[in-house]
Amino acid sequence: MIDFHCHLDLYPDPHAVAREAISRGIRVLSVTTTPSAWRGTVGLSNSSPQIMTALGLHPQLVGDRMRELKTFEQLIEETRFVGEIGLDGAPEYAEYWGDQEKVFDGILRICRAAGGRIMTIHSRRATNPVLNALEAVLGAGTPILHWYSGTIKELRRAIDLGCWFSVNHAMLTTGRGLKAVSAMPRTRVLTETDGPFTWVGSETMKPWHVELSLAKLAEIWEITVDATNTQLNQNLESLLSSQ
Ligand code: MN
Repeated sequence: MIDFHCHLDLYPDPHAVAREAISRGIRVLSVTTTPSAWRGTVGLSNSSPQIMTALGLHPQLVGDRMRELKTFEQLIEETRFVGEIGLDGAPEYAEYWGDQEKVFDGILRICRAAGGRIMTIHSRRATNPVLNALEAVLGAGTPILHWYSGTIKELRRAIDLGCWFSVNHAMLTTGRGLKAVSAMPRTRVLTETDGPFTWVGSETMKPWHVELSLAKLAEIWEITVDATNTQLNQNLESLLSSQ
């Protein structure tokens, strides 16, 4: 199983979660929210190829961390994966919208200059601005819209621009989310938890909870859970060979 967007470094005991994910055979994209978290988060993988680490600068932190863009640029050669990056259009981050756009554009340019990266992207209330930015810097790599929350019309535009999607349990339990997931090309879908920011009952989601999304995707696609797992594994192989 695959959790392609998880904040391993933000669990109270990150090493325990990483170890258990490895022992359960889950492949995890361990995302970071600031370049200064890069080194420590890489250490969580214990050199297991199952844990891939992404270099990120979260749009919600741009107000405080904009100057870390320089560190981002220094670290880009160390990884194939970038995230969490993107734009957040919620009112509480409006004050830094201009800086968010500058940082996201800067990151895309750094990725393009480095030959392209696999990128996990936040687009809450900002689908079209994210797509505009991707369109302005073609060649930055393969974009994966994580926790997609836009409209079906925006989704079509994202698909045309070559976007992939990582879907989580929260999306698969709302009518709007289900509609979007049903419209995504099956060969460009991966599962994620976005843990520890999502919950299963009173417990924060861990990478192995992607099994909930796997079961739900199997229902939507009208195939078995095994066939769904096979499809997702094939998707990941094809994604990894794209960059
Ligand atoms: Mn996240």
